[in-house]
This record gives sequence, C-alpha cells and structure tokens, in this order.
Amino acid sequence: MDSNPAPAARTTDGGTRRLSVAVIGGSLTGPVTALLLLRAGFDVTVYEATPASAPLGGGLIGLEHTALDVLDRLDIPQREFIAYDSETIRQVAIRDRQPEQTALRTYPGRNTTWTLLHRALAARVPAGVLRRGMRVTGLTHHAGRPILQFTDGHTETADLVVFADGRSSIGRRLLDPGRKLHYAGYVAHRGIATNTPQPDLRDFVRMEPCPGAQFNIAPVPGGCDWTFYLGCTATDYEQRFGANPTRRVFALPQHITPAARTHVDEHADQLLPSDHAAVVHATTARMAVPVLDIDPPTRMVWPVGDGHAVLLGDALAPVRPHTARGANNGIEQAAGLAVALTQHRRYNADLPTALHGWQRRHLPTAVAAVRQGPVIGDKLGLGAR
Ligand SMILES: Cc1cc2nc3c(=O)[nH]c(=O)nc-3n(C[C@H](O)[C@H](O)[C@H](O)COP(=O)(O)OP(=O)(O)OC[C@H]3O[C@@H](n4cnc5c(N)ncnc54)[C@H](O)[C@@H]3O)c2cc1C
Repeated sequence: MDSNPAPAARTTDGGTRRLSVAVIGGSLTGPVTALLLLRAGFDVTVYEATPASAPLGGGLIGLEHTALDVLDRLDIPQREFIAYDSETIRQVAIRDRQPEQTALRTYPGRNTTWTLLHRALAARVPAGVLRRGMRVTGLTHHAGRPILQFTDGHTETADLVVFADGRSSIGRRLLDPGRKLHYAGYVAHRGIATNTPQPDLRDFVRMEPCPGAQFNIAPVPGGCDWTFYLGCTATDYEQRFGANPTRRVFALPQHITPAARTHVDEHADQLLPSDHAAVVHATTARMAVPVLDIDPPTRMVWPVGDGHAVLLGDALAPVRPHTARGANNGIEQAAGLAVALTQHRRYNADLPTALHGWQRRHLPTAVAAVRQGPVIGDKLGLGAR
C-alpha cells in the first residue's frame, strides 16, 4: 500500500456513497466475490472474457472448511456441489506397479469439481450482473475514477476493481508487472474417464510411484477424475501442447497432440497398477496444466485515481496444485474483502485502511502457499528447485 493512500469515496455530508465494484473473471473466485458483495449491498458487475466459461483450472477441487462455510453463508447447499462426501485420502506407495503401503488421512474439507461449483455459483448471479465476452485489456483513471478498457475499445468505470482473472491475470500484469510466472518443469496431465466404471472408488486416492511422478484419482459424477504429474522440459511442453508453458497456461482438449497422449499412456504403463493404467488409456477427454511458480506477492491493493484495484485468487498468486490451496485462497480472500467493504459501507470505516487490513490478514496465507508448492514438488522429485 502507498504510505499516502487515496481517500475513501465520501460524500460531502460525511457519509459514504454506494461503491460500484467491477469484478474481472467469472470462474470461481469472481462469482464468490460478486455474490458476497451483492449480499452486502454493493453495486457489482462481473466481466468475463469468454462467451461461456470452461473448466480451465480442472476437475477435482478440495475445499477446506473455511471455504465451505463461505458457500454455506451464500445459502448454497453442499449437496449441490459435493457429489461424494468422503473425507478420506488414501495415500498409496507404489513399487513395481504394485501398491506397497497405504496410509489413510482425513481431509479437513470435501471435494467438489470446477463444473459443479461453477454451476452452483453462476446460477445465483443475477441476470445482468455477469457480462460475458468482455475481455479487459487496460486500467486507467479519469476524474479520480478507475476506468476499465476492453478489447472492443469499450470502457467502464468503477470505484473498486477486483481482478479475479486467473493465472495469466491482466490485472497482475498491469498492477504488479515485475512478478512473472516461472515454469516448474512438470505437468499435471488430467482426464475424466467416463467409460471405465470404478464402483468401489469413493475416496480421493493418491498414488506415489516416486520419485518424479504422482497419480491422483477420485470419483466425479459420471466417472472418475485423474491427474498424473510427470516431468517435462519447456521444449517438450511446446512440442506436445503447441506453445510455451508460461503462454499456454492451460492445454485444452484441442491442444493435446497424439505425442502428448502417447507420453502419458507410456508412463501409465511403466508406473501405475494395470487397472489404473487402463483407466488412463481409456480416457478420451484430456487436458494438461503446466505447473507454474510465481514470485510471492508483496501486496494485494493498489490505488487507481481515487479508487482502488485488488488482486484475488489465482490472479494474485497461482499456487502449485499439490498445495490444494488455489480455490481455497480465492474464496477466503473474497470473504475477507466482503467483510472489509461491509465495515466501510455500514460504519463508514476508512476504505484504504479497511483494504490495507484485509491485505495484512490474507497476504501471509497466499505467500505461504506459493512457498509450499516447491517444497512438496521437491519431496515428490517433481520440478527443479
Ligand atoms: C490439477 C489441479 C488441481 C487443483 N486442486 C485444487 C484443490 O484441491 N484445492 C484448491 O483450492 N485449488 C485447487 N486447484 C486450483 C484451482 O483450480 C484454482 O486456484 C482456481 O480454479 C482459481 O480460480 P479463479 O477463479 O481465481 O481463476 P480461474 O479459474 O483461472 O478463472 C479466471 C477467469 O477469468 C477470466 N479472465 C481471464 N482474463 C480475463 C480478462 N482479461 N478479462 C475478463 N476475464 C478474464 C477467465 O476466462 C476465467 O473465467 C487445482 C488446480 C489444478 C490445475
């Protein structure tokens, strides 16, 4: 934060006027933020670049109790987005393609999927609030008010701009350009198998044929979701998925080349028990996510004219998937932001100070998750440190 922060949006009679909030990104963090702020009485618009959101971040997402409680407070029943209520993680050491030892752990939360959670959130965003096909390209200010620029040359104003626009965030590039993404040297290959029924699969199963590989599998509606972490040089990534890993931060089904498919199938044959290798082989719908690191954030709030811009969720700090903290961080930050803004709206709390307090409470958790990723990767023999 600046040492000389911008004044709060005050009216001449000393009260605060209704802040207008622009949320950039309509995936998970954006809609949670919007719903919380709408409930708190703010004037909110969500701008989403794509005409229809796709599950970029992936299938299975573990949500901890704090995030689940935020969804509870939004009156979203858990049964709507939790299809399997197991809290058990089965951690299986694999040697010579055979399970050697299984440790049971209890996860302090539940597993959802991007699709279930996004659907539950999007269904609650009132018509007119979510504006799709609106890609933000710039942020300036005029007469004290932040102005968003869009690809088509269109502009919109807001008092507060909340960037929840994910790993390649335009907000982060504009506000904090020094923090670049670094490829960690391995890929999370993902698939949803719909044609190999696993009737006994109830829990999240983590298989470790370490070093240098991890395979996770869990039930999802209509099949099972798997993630296979394997090493991959940046050059190989470009050959297998068509672009550099810091540019193609999600390889969608159309980017998966036959060579990428073969690479994953061969590793499944070398490393996994035969029934799990068969699940991989049979999976037609595949994606891949390069594992990326970023310099830890040092701030979440920026003054823009007399207004502000903030970064949340993956826009602030994409973290390695093993931390299982990306969506949790975004939801917790959204809830904290709604608290700070509510104090401003209801009790005339000084806005820059409220935002600074929010940053002070949430920045350490984001930094910890950024740092934790390489530690976990190192233990698994994945990625270079
Ligand atoms: C394999 C894997 C496993 C994971 N497991 C977990 C887990 O167990 N627990 C957990 O908490 N997290 C997990 N995550 C992380 C989680 O998926 C992400 O942190 C989460 O999806 C981020 O949500 P977001 O809304 O912040 O960003 P995103 O989902 O990336 O959404 C950003 C949105 O912004 C839009 N957008 C981008 N640019 C613009 C622009 N210029 N203008 C307008 N809109 C824009 C995009 O189209 C997109 O809809 C996992 C990730 C992976 C890859």
